Amino acid sequence: MEPLFLPPLHRQRHQFVVDFVKQHKPQKVVDLGCGQCELLKKLKWFHREIDLLVGVDVNGTRVKKKMHGLAPMPADYLQPIDDQLSIELYQGSVTQRDARLRGFDLVTSIELIEHLTPDDVQCFSEVVFGFMNPAAVIISTPNSEFNPLLPGLSGFRHSDHKFEWTRAEFQSWALEVCLRFGFEVEFTGVGTAPSGLESVGFCSQIGVFHNLKGRSGHNFYCDDAEDEFPYTLMYSVKYPSMRDNNILRRVLVGEVLCWTQRLRSRWESDKSFERDKDCTWNEGERGGNDCLSVQHEEAREEQTVCGAQVAEPEFGFSRDLFRDQSGFLSVPLNLLWSHCPKVGALSGTLENLRHLLSDEPSVKFSQDGDAVLIQLQEEESEEKGEEEHDDLEDSRYAEVREHCGTPEQGQDWETNV
Ligand code: SAM
Repeated sequence: MEPLFLPPLHRQRHQFVVDFVKQHKPQKVVDLGCGQCELLKKLKWFHREIDLLVGVDVNGTRVKKKMHGLAPMPADYLQPIDDQLSIELYQGSVTQRDARLRGFDLVTSIELIEHLTPDDVQCFSEVVFGFMNPAAVIISTPNSEFNPLLPGLSGFRHSDHKFEWTRAEFQSWALEVCLRFGFEVEFTGVGTAPSGLESVGFCSQIGVFHNLKGRSGHNFYCDDAEDEFPYTLMYSVKYPSMRDNNILRRVLVGEVLCWTQRLRSRWESDKSFERDKDCTWNEGERGGNDCLSVQHEEAREEQTVCGAQVAEPEFGFSRDLFRDQSGFLSVPLNLLWSHCPKVGALSGTLENLRHLLSDEPSVKFSQDGDAVLIQLQEEESEEKGEEEHDDLEDSRYAEVREHCGTPEQGQDWETNV
């Protein structure tokens, strides 16, 4: 059978909520009758705005089937979000008052109300508008006037529906709720009728309610409400966030290690460039070519550092780096802070950077705490072979090596990384 609506109607309903979230940026959202958490999964992508996302359904088995799809992905740990996002799922009925559901910015109830008996609709109104008393509520429900256009339908759209309202019935209930609890409402919907039949209205009718007091936190049943927690928590997860100091520290350390290694490579490359330059100059004197230095310049142009293009000239960096007496390369902390964009952004201040790195075993500090020390590579002597080694024996580099000996194995930076 050809789908009647494109995109399918349930997607259009969820998209309506997503569009509302994009526009109004609520921070705390609860979806009542969340079923298999489809809407919650869509909303979780808006975690820049939302910091608490809650789902409630009377049918715990239904929720459990798909709830793990809300868990963070490995990529969420590699690139934690700046803000916080917690997701909680509860088993419970919308006819019960649970104090954890108060003070929300948005409550959604998508195709739920028609599953309630008239008495339960009464409770639902009191719980949602009177007790939870959020800033906004979105309620969608079938529009029975559209039913004659649904091919082969006799009776209600679902066997569990207790009623299906006409637009007038829905509006009358909604306006009464507004009057009683201090809200205003706009009526709209999704799923348009074929051309010429639009007078029946939308297939799903939607009421968007706004609290006239904003998110006041005030509720009509506040006496003993604080102590009521009838819902059962089924699932709870916190997304990795930079606001978590451990995660911030982990990302920062990764960034610092990445930059220090690249700066070390750059420093080594600059040192060998200086040597090559002398060598090339000598070659030129003897009528040789300067291909060594040309190759070096080409390689330099392509280099990026930790994903970011490094501004030329490169020697600016190298001048601030030096080999200390123990044979470690010293990288000033303020250079890391001011030249490595993400390091600066994550730490905020230089002092904070020092503080966040202070207890980190993979980061070695100079005695004065002003620089990060990096193990220099040993391959300079091992990989370059005897011939080159003889040349180096004459240089100042060899003097330093002789003086300092080789770095300790236990401090092998490369392995640590
Ligand atoms: N809102 C979801 C969506 O848009 O896909 C699911 C809608 S489904 C038609 C109705 C849901 O309401 C079911 O998951 C059902 O278990 C839930 N429900 C029915 N009565 C409820 C109640 N009293 N309290 C909470 N949830 C209820």
